Amino acid sequence: MEFDLIEMIRQRTAQPRDDVRLGIGDDAAVLAVPPGQELAVALDTLVEGVHFPHGSAAADIGWKALAVNLSDLAAMGATPAWALLALTLPAPDADFVQGFAAGFAELAQPHRLALVGGDTTRGPLSISVVVHGFVPPGRALTRAGARVGDAVLVTGTLGDAAAGLALVLAQGQAAGVADELRPARDYLIARLNRPTPRLAAGLALRERASACIDISDGLLADLGHLCTASGVGAEIDAARLPLSSALLALHDDASALPFALGGGDDYELCFSVPPERVVEVQAGLARLGCGATRIGRIVAGSGVRVRGADGAWLTIAQHGWEHFA
Ligand code: ADP
Ligand code: MG
Repeated sequence: MEFDLIEMIRQRTAQPRDDVRLGIGDDAAVLAVPPGQELAVALDTLVEGVHFPHGSAAADIGWKALAVNLSDLAAMGATPAWALLALTLPAPDADFVQGFAAGFAELAQPHRLALVGGDTTRGPLSISVVVHGFVPPGRALTRAGARVGDAVLVTGTLGDAAAGLALVLAQGQAAGVADELRPARDYLIARLNRPTPRLAAGLALRERASACIDISDGLLADLGHLCTASGVGAEIDAARLPLSSALLALHDDASALPFALGGGDDYELCFSVPPERVVEVQAGLARLGCGATRIGRIVAGSGVRVRGADGAWLTIAQHGWEHFA
């Protein structure tokens, strides 16, 4: 029975690659790292009720389990190649596994990512994925390296996923949103359930950004990590934060701000570049379709400060999600 589930996963995620000498089915996968490349490896776990709402669609969970890991490779400027999947299920539910594998494969295929192994066990629903990517030696984009005077930019828009989560959690309590706001609501919930890892942007930034991180826990928290790793501080202008039209359809500027500053799960990239490179970098990322917005600057010191539209520093009540807080 468990074997059937593994076979189902294997078939649905099939991705031929020359560098996979041995994939799912033996005691271990055998993989050939291309000559002249380094491996970038990351692992993220999703637990039901913590990292995705109870009752999420299986395909969305499959997509997101891979997306959050690919986002880590994107932030390193790595090209994805292989993944391992540890699936813990309350019951051997074929429908769930089929949906999960379909969502996983939908994101894996365009990136030619091969699922090469894993583990399947029984217990409360949780999913761990390991991804492996390639990066030229010494070229990985890291959190360290931001310099005083660099500009701070983010790809895409901020706060959508957190606003989407608020909508999901409110469902059933309220009557929902008005008909004309449905597309905005659906967009925000899709940003929560099906985040887009910014892999092409990460590659484009590899030779250009001085430091980079993906936003999983919220802009303030993650930019804070970048600053700590680089030994610098940052100043952000609230009025410059890129907000989607969907977020602004449901929230005014003031109520959108906490989502954009503190909300997690957007999986956009936040990065620093020397000021003379901003225009070139923005043009490059615009061509890739995600765009990038200059939101502030790297300063001496430590920590992240936010300037309001009136020029005064803001006191932030809602920080990004912190583990075990
Ligand atoms: P073992 O007892 O040797 O660990 P398993 O029965 O756990 O063997 O796994 C059999 C094969 O199926 C292995 O190649 C393993 O990598 C793969 N596998 C198991 N679970 C998964 C999964 N959820 N996704 C992908 N491959 C899996
Ligand atoms: Mg096993």
